[in-house]
Amino acid sequence: MNTSTLIAPPALVQRAEKQDTQAIQALDSAHFIHPFTDHGDLATRGARVITHADGIYVWDSEGNKILDGMSGLWCVNAGYGRKELADAAYQQLMTLPFYNSFFQTTNVPAVQLAAKLAALAPKVGDRSFNHVFFSSSGSESNDTNVRMARRYWDLLGQSQRKVIISRHNAYHGSTMAGASLGGMSGMHAQGDLPIPNITHIDQPYYFENARGGESKADFGLRAARWLEEKILEIGPEKVAAFIAEPVQGAGGVIIPPETYWPEIQRIVDQYGILLICDEVICAFGRLGHWFAYEKFGIKPDLVTFAKGVTSGYIPLGGVMVGNRVAEVLIDKGGEFNHGYTYSGHPVACAVGLANLNLMERENLPGRVRTETGPYLATQFEALKDHPLVGDAETCGFVAGLVLVKDKANKQMFDPDRAVGMICRGHCFRNGLIMRAVGDRMIIAPPLSMTVAQIDEMMGLIRRCLDATLADVR
Ligand code: PLP
Repeated sequence: MNTSTLIAPPALVQRAEKQDTQAIQALDSAHFIHPFTDHGDLATRGARVITHADGIYVWDSEGNKILDGMSGLWCVNAGYGRKELADAAYQQLMTLPFYNSFFQTTNVPAVQLAAKLAALAPKVGDRSFNHVFFSSSGSESNDTNVRMARRYWDLLGQSQRKVIISRHNAYHGSTMAGASLGGMSGMHAQGDLPIPNITHIDQPYYFENARGGESKADFGLRAARWLEEKILEIGPEKVAAFIAEPVQGAGGVIIPPETYWPEIQRIVDQYGILLICDEVICAFGRLGHWFAYEKFGIKPDLVTFAKGVTSGYIPLGGVMVGNRVAEVLIDKGGEFNHGYTYSGHPVACAVGLANLNLMERENLPGRVRTETGPYLATQFEALKDHPLVGDAETCGFVAGLVLVKDKANKQMFDPDRAVGMICRGHCFRNGLIMRAVGDRMIIAPPLSMTVAQIDEMMGLIRRCLDATLADVR
């Protein structure tokens, strides 16, 4: 195949089911630097070329239909092929494709989306969310959080409060601040991270970190108190904020014990530090609520969002700014010297608005909370009977299971065997996208998934677990 046919017309390249895969892979490897990819591997094995999608399925260039258990990258909450989202983008592109929101200028979709988000964000205790700052991604939003938290304390005359505490194995993005806030050792090892004044405590991962015989409830309290110990070690007067995902996503779907968040709240309240909930994955129905802080009864001051706000159809992120910060930063702070060209991008906001309306009309968060989420939970619970599964748990529409060598003794496989990757390979070959984080296998399917489709997915998961077992025995 002549490679020029790959460049034009794009519609053919994107839609045709059968492609000259090798030619696309060669072009890809020659020109495209991918995120989180070993390019040596890419050159020898070639990238999987995804050509189109519909509902909960994607197709590759070889014509394989694959059930997307990861919603793209935790973002296609409404499922693929939603014409009304494409229509919203088209209409807005023809009306006003771009204008900036700097210097006392605004646009209608950005205003409408900000108001919609404020209406969807529930008040908890004395915290309300009436203000939104827009960016184009989760990473940019977390950078914004660092700047906002520091600006907040500056304005209150407490500039010494600079330290932000996060957790090991958290993921908060790939910019300098995002990767520093995150607790991924592989990322810190590249490029002198974290940047100054960002530090980490351990994650509340019961399966791995609990002491023998320790109850989940006790472990949750102990894990939360690592925050208090860290605050006291640093000096409370120097701590600006604590940031955490309500449920850790990229770290392997780490669901904290029920006692964890109330104790964290007690600690941040006691020391007066800001609480930032990173809900880039957890918001917009993923855990059965518009925002996950509601599920856990958390009272955050800043809430990061991205991904599901547009179901990933177009990049958009932002920060819900709670009243505590808003009253200082916005009402009294004068000009905040921060912003992105695409803050409040009219097309992204129009798609966001259409997506939230669609999700509201189809009651996707409610279905996850009362119907499909509980059904998925029962199915995952049943997986615990599988010889390879040491633990399996869900929270709304995220789920994880641990592959173990010996269930009775909770003994893990030697990491060098890369059993998670073996399992992931079986998933691909059997038409299922499931992610491996070490030997934790995780999913986050589209919220539009039906009960029958959950059954289909569970059948595939069991088949892949059986195939993995046959390989590792
Ligand atoms: N925060 C969390 C919790 C995430 O899961 C992610 C991405 O997966 C990010 C931040 C970064 O978002 P982005 O990739 O849009 O910059």
